[in-house]
Amino acid sequence: MKVILAESAGFCAGVRRAVDIAVDAVGKAEAEGRGCATLGPLIHNDDMIRSLERQGLPSVSELSETAGRDIVVPSHGTSSGVLKEAASMGLRVVDATCPHVNRLKKKAVDWEAGGGTVVIVGDRRHPEISGVASYLRDPIISDDQEEILKGAASRRGERFLVLAQTTQVAEFVIGVFEALRAAGHDVIYKNTVCPATKERQEETRRLSCKVDAMIVIGGPKSANTRRLEEIAGASGKPTYRVANLSELDVKGIKDAGYDKLGITAGASTPDGIIKEVVKAMADLGAEKEMTMAELEQLYPEKKEAAPVKKELQVVTGKVTLVTDDEVLADVGQGADVHVPKDQLTFSKSVLPGQLFQPGDEITVALEDFDAQKDVQYASKVKADAITSWERAKGAFESGSPLEGVIVEAVKAGVVVDLGLRAFMPASQIGKRIEDLSTIVGTKVRVKVVELEENRKGAVVSARALLEEEAARQREENFSKVQVGSVLQGVVRKIMPFGAFINLFPGVDGLLHVSEISWQRVGNPSEVLNEGMNVEIKVIAIDDARGKISLSMKQLAEKPRFKTMAVDLDEGGIYSGTVVKLMSFGAFIRLEGGAEGLVHVSQISDSRVQSPEDVLSVGQEVKVKVLSVNHENGRISLSIKEAADRAEREKYEDYMKSSEEDFKITIADRIRIKQQSGKR
Ligand code: SF4
Repeated sequence: MKVILAESAGFCAGVRRAVDIAVDAVGKAEAEGRGCATLGPLIHNDDMIRSLERQGLPSVSELSETAGRDIVVPSHGTSSGVLKEAASMGLRVVDATCPHVNRLKKKAVDWEAGGGTVVIVGDRRHPEISGVASYLRDPIISDDQEEILKGAASRRGERFLVLAQTTQVAEFVIGVFEALRAAGHDVIYKNTVCPATKERQEETRRLSCKVDAMIVIGGPKSANTRRLEEIAGASGKPTYRVANLSELDVKGIKDAGYDKLGITAGASTPDGIIKEVVKAMADLGAEKEMTMAELEQLYPEKKEAAPVKKELQVVTGKVTLVTDDEVLADVGQGADVHVPKDQLTFSKSVLPGQLFQPGDEITVALEDFDAQKDVQYASKVKADAITSWERAKGAFESGSPLEGVIVEAVKAGVVVDLGLRAFMPASQIGKRIEDLSTIVGTKVRVKVVELEENRKGAVVSARALLEEEAARQREENFSKVQVGSVLQGVVRKIMPFGAFINLFPGVDGLLHVSEISWQRVGNPSEVLNEGMNVEIKVIAIDDARGKISLSMKQLAEKPRFKTMAVDLDEGGIYSGTVVKLMSFGAFIRLEGGAEGLVHVSQISDSRVQSPEDVLSVGQEVKVKVLSVNHENGRISLSIKEAADRAEREKYEDYMKSSEEDFKITIADRIRIKQQSGKR
């Protein structure tokens, strides 16, 4: 048989402290010629009480029995009435109350002072609880859940604080708290189970699962020993609760032939008594006394079967504090709940401060209460898991957007925390990002574009949403544009055929080159620059194709062709510049700005296939005005007739000058002849 002794067995710090204080008090009292006594047993162990009596520290049950001796208040404390009475009797009181008991008392008194009602889960007859209760007006005290629920029901509307006797089983107390909450009471819980008790209970639970039988050593009046007995018994293993070796059925244990035997002891069980029991087991032939650590190495704890899934309570509140490790939030539980970093998001690389700031709203699932630390934990990840899949599914079906946080940069995209893990390809982010890690921690609105049913994941796109929103905005803005309205716009892009003018976000119109000016414009860049503000008039809207036609020239005064052409004489010859060549002719700008067309047939007497063959843009030419249409400003010109005219004029000039030359010569000859006849 192997014997395993629990490491936590024996005196707790509170009991050890009380014994030290009492022994000290005895020494002092004797030195001053007085005696010393404890009011009730110092600790719940008869052997220890007898031992203390032998050391000069008897136990009395009434102050009247003290006979002037100093009074030591035991580790579980005493009532306010007793202390007042002792003071009135002039007795010297030495307080050995355990600090954990005082802590319970303080929490209870403070709560009542704030107008709340205290619920203590504990034995009202136990001196610890009767002592604490003596400081309270009207607490509910019971170790029976139904009784507490009944008491609370008759006081509905009051604000309850659930506290525990220091030696209670924390899980039981939390169960009472949850039952009160489920019944709709305004209730919070603060852990007052002492850490030593909790540790001892935990170890007993683990040990009893690994051995064939348990021995729990402690007095029958010791509340914490009784709890250990309950816990060990709950494992289904035979459990022997004994005050000392004399109560132990050693023969029965031997006959049972246990292979492994576990031993633990209550907080008030002296080491000597524990050693006696261990030795007796060794005498039975126990091979070795093992420690818990050795046992756990030998028999590692099996993975527990998955616990029955509890329905988590999801609550919403406000963030009150953000640290690098957690977020605290007020979700109406009295004290703030703690949401550890790893329960905020599934990403390890995001800090709480990147997700939340004080004052932000947060929805969490309440998790188990950590009685040891007196902390109510909560999980956003679990709250999200409850709601996120359905929400993502709904968003996918309806096309509505979801908000999430980019929590990780991965190959070819980023991971977005939507409560569930969603992947967003880099191409769907909506803007070009060189280093995706720079946007980790950024909040983002996305559209669910694909659902991965099996993996409970999704593919999302911010770009799809941006495009949809742009289209919606464009549609809205498009409806503001009316034919005939005059708008301010910005030249967004210049093309050879015109310029795109931005009128409203997402709404552009085309200003065709022919609509820029009444004067001919070869290329829009001659008069416009990108980014330039312009005033334009809407001249046509194609609703079906979403196209808008604009004009600048219609806002300018229409040139009166008459004015431009008024000085032109039909048949007159003018200088001009070729400004555009078309297959059917050439446009010539005349001095003064008027433009006319030289039809291809009017370029030359010879056949011209294409105006480009004989003319070039910018070339200076002489033209003859064939006709001027003052109604539409069209001017017909002719290069060949201008050339004919020029040729003819040259010829006439020549002929004229030749005739003069000829006339002079004949006259001269006649004169010469006459002059020579006279000789
Ligand atoms: S069991 Fe806990 S509360 Fe009781 S005396 Fe020991 S330390 Fe104090």
